[in-house]
Amino acid sequence: MREMQYLRLLEAAMEQSFNAVLITTAQLDRPGPEIVYVNAAMTRMSGYSREELLGTTPRLLQGPETDRDMLDHLRAALANGEHFEANTVNYRKDGTPYWVEWSISPMHDEEGTLTHFISIQQDVTRLVEDQKQMKLLSSALEMSPDIVVMADAAGNIEYVNRAFERYTGYDRDDVLGQNPRLLKSGQHSAQFYRNMWDTLTRGETFRDTFVDQGIGGRLFHIEQTITPIKDDMGQIIRYVSIGKDITRRVQNERELKRIAHTDTLTGLVNRMSFDQRLEKEIERAKRYKRPLSLIMLDIDHFKYVNDDHGHDVGDQVLVHLAQVLLENLRAADLCARWGGEEFMVLAPETALTEAAQLAEKLREVIADTDFPVVGQVTASFGVVEAACNNFSAEVVKRADKALYQAKAEGRNRVRACDGERSTPRPPT
Ligand code: GH3
Ligand code: MG
Ligand code: MG
Repeated sequence: MREMQYLRLLEAAMEQSFNAVLITTAQLDRPGPEIVYVNAAMTRMSGYSREELLGTTPRLLQGPETDRDMLDHLRAALANGEHFEANTVNYRKDGTPYWVEWSISPMHDEEGTLTHFISIQQDVTRLVEDQKQMKLLSSALEMSPDIVVMADAAGNIEYVNRAFERYTGYDRDDVLGQNPRLLKSGQHSAQFYRNMWDTLTRGETFRDTFVDQGIGGRLFHIEQTITPIKDDMGQIIRYVSIGKDITRRVQNERELKRIAHTDTLTGLVNRMSFDQRLEKEIERAKRYKRPLSLIMLDIDHFKYVNDDHGHDVGDQVLVHLAQVLLENLRAADLCARWGGEEFMVLAPETALTEAAQLAEKLREVIADTDFPVVGQVTASFGVVEAACNNFSAEVVKRADKALYQAKAEGRNRVRACDGERSTPRPPT
């Protein structure tokens, strides 16, 4: 009686088990093991009724996607009386495939003779699909040309992708567990990082261009987005950073800017750039009530240089003269090619007298220089000090006027003009 109760209990357990259960005979030779028991979960999973399954072999459940090698291993293990576990594809009655996880054990009778196999099965399609999805996502991250870094709530690196390794030169094993500050280049202010942390701790995305430093001190510019990831409770659990390397773009932009600000012949600052600097320096001089002077110079009778020696030689004179100017100026002075054979020198922190002396020095050095092919070349100079109420155009106009006077008075001389008053500076 007790035994009956026990058997009923076992049967009920099998029937109500969440996992599918299938018992076959131990017949491994053709036609193969015969199904002698299936539980309700097995009929639910396979779509076959109990009657359809009993008496057939598990081959009924197999199909084109079922792993043949795995079946061979299964048969070998069972022949040895061993337990076997595997994943494969099986097919429902309606032909739809599902991923199943098997755990098959041999069953022996009291004499130890192999009599049956019991197979516990579970539909793992969802799990397999999830894993596929995970693999897909992780390979997308790995193959992404953008730099991806994930850090935990404490800011320690948990993941970096291949692009990170490529750009920084760091191996992922070197950086896992480290703080991303190892990429700090020292090019950002403390305020920059404060802003970043303020934004992130508010739970908002931070976007900016970072200048980072990779292995060997190589600097690179990254257009970066850092997003805090929160859990259901709103707690930040990690940070995800996606960055696009824009180093080349930054370098190109710098180069274009440099070209746009440079006179191609002499390499000096060009007129456009000079105008901008003049504007700024005048503002600065006004604000801090500091002196600022402007020297304008023009080569004397340059037309003859071209006429006598050709335009190319004329060009070389301009290049040479630019060099002479640079060699005789202070670091704070800005020297520009203003036009054809006209040059400008902007001298900050310099009052008129001092600027006139500087112009005189330049005049002498030019006159004393032996220019290739042409020999001596002279220039005339107009010098002015920016008055506190002057706009840049007015300062330039006054310098031009002083220069015109120097020309009119015989060239190769400096004319310094102090507002209304102008002082002739004859050559010594
Ligand atoms: P002045 O003493 O009155 O300044 O006489 P100048 O001959 O220097 O003045 P003008 O303005 O009559 O002539 C300037 C010459 O400079 C004319 C032009 O052919 C030449 N020039 C302007 N730009 C260049 C340049 O880039 N290369 C060369 N080779 N010559 C230039
Ligand atoms: Mg000239
Ligand atoms: Mg001229």
